[in-house]
Amino acid sequence: MHLSASARRLAISIVLVAALPAAWAAPAAVLPGDDFFDYVNGEWLNSVEIPADRSSWGVGAALVEDTNLRIVKLIEGLAAAPSSAEAKKIADYYASFMDEAGIEAKGLAPLQPALAQIAAIGDKRALTKALGASLQADVDPLNATNFFTENLFGLWIAQGLKDSAHYTPYLLQGGLGMPDRAYYLDDTPSMKELRGKYLAHIAATFRLAGIADAEARAARVFELETKIAATHANREDSADVLKANNNWSAADFARKAPGMDWAAFFASAGLGGQKKFIVWHPTAIAGAARLVNSVPLETWKDFLTFHSINQVSAALPKALVDQHFDFYGRALNGTPQQSLRWKRSLAAVNAAMPDALGKIYVAKYFPPESKQRLQQMVSNIVDAFHLRIDKLDWMAPATKKEAHAKLKTLYVGIGYPEKWASYEQLQVVPDDALGNLLRAERLHTQQQLAKLHQPVDRAEWCMPAQLVNAVNMPMQNAINFPAAILQPPYFDPSAGDAVNYGGIGATIGHEISHSFDDQGAQFDSKGRLRDWWTAADGKHFKQASAALAAQYSAYKPFPDLAINGQQTLSENLADLAGLSASYDAYHATLANKRVTPEADQQFFIGYAASWREKERDEALRRAILTDGHAPDKWRTATVRNLDAWYNAFNVQPGQTLYLAPKDRVRVW
Ligand SMILES: [Zn+2]
Repeated sequence: MHLSASARRLAISIVLVAALPAAWAAPAAVLPGDDFFDYVNGEWLNSVEIPADRSSWGVGAALVEDTNLRIVKLIEGLAAAPSSAEAKKIADYYASFMDEAGIEAKGLAPLQPALAQIAAIGDKRALTKALGASLQADVDPLNATNFFTENLFGLWIAQGLKDSAHYTPYLLQGGLGMPDRAYYLDDTPSMKELRGKYLAHIAATFRLAGIADAEARAARVFELETKIAATHANREDSADVLKANNNWSAADFARKAPGMDWAAFFASAGLGGQKKFIVWHPTAIAGAARLVNSVPLETWKDFLTFHSINQVSAALPKALVDQHFDFYGRALNGTPQQSLRWKRSLAAVNAAMPDALGKIYVAKYFPPESKQRLQQMVSNIVDAFHLRIDKLDWMAPATKKEAHAKLKTLYVGIGYPEKWASYEQLQVVPDDALGNLLRAERLHTQQQLAKLHQPVDRAEWCMPAQLVNAVNMPMQNAINFPAAILQPPYFDPSAGDAVNYGGIGATIGHEISHSFDDQGAQFDSKGRLRDWWTAADGKHFKQASAALAAQYSAYKPFPDLAINGQQTLSENLADLAGLSASYDAYHATLANKRVTPEADQQFFIGYAASWREKERDEALRRAILTDGHAPDKWRTATVRNLDAWYNAFNVQPGQTLYLAPKDRVRVW
């Protein structure tokens, strides 16, 4: 339950707000009550082109770009004079990916050991071991809401849903090269076209890797993935923790998911001694085991071969990099141009050694004064939540008590983690990009597996400090605000409260309210999945949530594609409650001052400006199908549920966004 899928959420700036009065003075093309997003952002939307190497662009993306430029400068400094062994590893890792000529000269040689291992698989038992060895800690269904892995299964190590005092391995569905089952099964022209392009991409990958019978192999891989997709849960069900809490013992797998040698699988995955698991997607896990049994060995070997190349193409010669971009960038996201080499290399270091980069980033760019001011804002917004809970007329006293307890025990991490991950065990070789990538992935998975034997750390972070994003982790009852989101134009230490509460304040409110959205409210103050609501409370909450889901399902970004109000419900609830709480906290800071209508306008305009973003149609379609967040334009529209917005902009019946007071959704 995080702020955005791709650091898209951002950002109010002092610059934007300074520019606003002029925009107000001119007759706006659109009335605020008809399209608030366009009213605030129309000029920007008309004047800005999405850069060719992007599937979307907005103030947030610009901030990501600036942050990346800063970090690359820091890396270049480390390369010249490494300050520690870890700093040298950062510089070497980056250099290995920047060494395009070296990668080209080696050709496919670095891939050969992995391909030879797959070729040597002689029976289903050996296949099962190879599938086990491919398991990586590469998904996170609850905090980062990342459900995607090309490996047959995804692994997540986290607290148990009902036992927040111990770490448990979670198994998730996987094995698809396209983002979701809908891409394989939906009967729409755009999906059919993508299927053709994906099939061609698989064949081209085989050809470029010098593997014979590329077309026939591609057809087999595609057919197998289609069968896997048919067993997958859809995106909406994936987000339902009540459907995910399936506790299986190691012995249960043979009975509940027959068809593969699970003991061999777990031994090979480093989970040999593990007794208890949580199976997030039981139907897909059982389906995959059935397919391991029924689909011919050669098809599975083709599947492993393709994905072992496809997943590491960033570290391979240009022809494979370009082919990968042609499908994943161009076809899937509508991005015309690949990003520059340095950006891709930086992304590789960010993925491999996130905390090492975070450490050097905050030392230079996150001053202690920012941390202090943000702590004060967090405390004010938490107070606003306490007051809102007290004022709820529908909530039973016992439920209120636990809600207060949950707020009181909330861990709020600001800027950076208290403990940094260690890369002491990571071997980095300056001229071995692929080896570095594989070793970093392996180390990450080993470190995650090691947690199974350690006490739970509620203060552990799940986002790097240099990421422009924020996250709520319900089982830890914790929130992280990475340093990179806590900077201008998003949070501006020199700006006034209207600006900062409309910007970062709404984000803080958003993350806090995830503790009380349809998912978060299922976890108690100790982080346990437990129903702590009375039946009447639950009924009111469900009714209010259903109204918000219906409000969002009625939005149609494309004539043939509506937003899924259920899939985006948690985020929409967090937006609504977060904006309301931040509004209250802002007004509390004005306690003895005269409140001007302009102040409220600034607050709401700041909010809408913080969502300004343009997306290519392909990326927008993908997001609507797979993202837990509604597109930014429609997230902005939640202002129509706040009475104060109507007063600030004189919104009248008959205007598109107008809701009669009884139809405005009020949850918290
Ligand atoms: Zn969120």
